[in-house]
Amino acid sequence: MSFIYPEEYIKEHAGKDRMVLYPTISDIAVQEFGDCGKGVIALRAYARGELVGAFTGKMGHDLLQHTLQIDPENHIHDPYFVGYLLHSCDPNVVVDMHQRLVYCIKDIPAGTPLSMDYASTEDQLFSQFACGCGAPNCRQWVTGRAERVNEDGTAHLLGKMGINLMNTTAMPVMK
Ligand SMILES: [Zn+2]
Repeated sequence: MSFIYPEEYIKEHAGKDRMVLYPTISDIAVQEFGDCGKGVIALRAYARGELVGAFTGKMGHDLLQHTLQIDPENHIHDPYFVGYLLHSCDPNVVVDMHQRLVYCIKDIPAGTPLSMDYASTEDQLFSQFACGCGAPNCRQWVTGRAERVNEDGTAHLLGKMGINLMNTTAMPVMK
């Protein structure tokens, strides 16, 4: 069985005891998704509640673009699996940062990108971004769970409402 993680990587970052839980190369793959960059795709169907697998990676104190937060001081970098999960405001997987496990929260047909809600693990994002996930409950602008919408986000959200910050006459009157 070939796991998504190279053997050397597993030796360096994890014990062998969890190996049976790592996804294999017939379960998931990291792929390019055009404008979204790299993402993780399901290569087989998953049922709601099913374990996608355990993850591992390099621990560090720096918040990077592809790290996930373990706690406010520690972040894990995993370039083979969770580091490339795409964001959705209506995700199909949930990431348990304590057990380091990924579970499906929807039935997932083969060929579907796996998505998580970045605000479910991150206090702060490496960078906030405009969301085009298309979910009915899309927040339009994604932030970490403990940070405010930044200036770009405010302009983006006002723009979505048809308000242009550059044109002060269109500003709503607030008291
Ligand atoms: Zn969204």
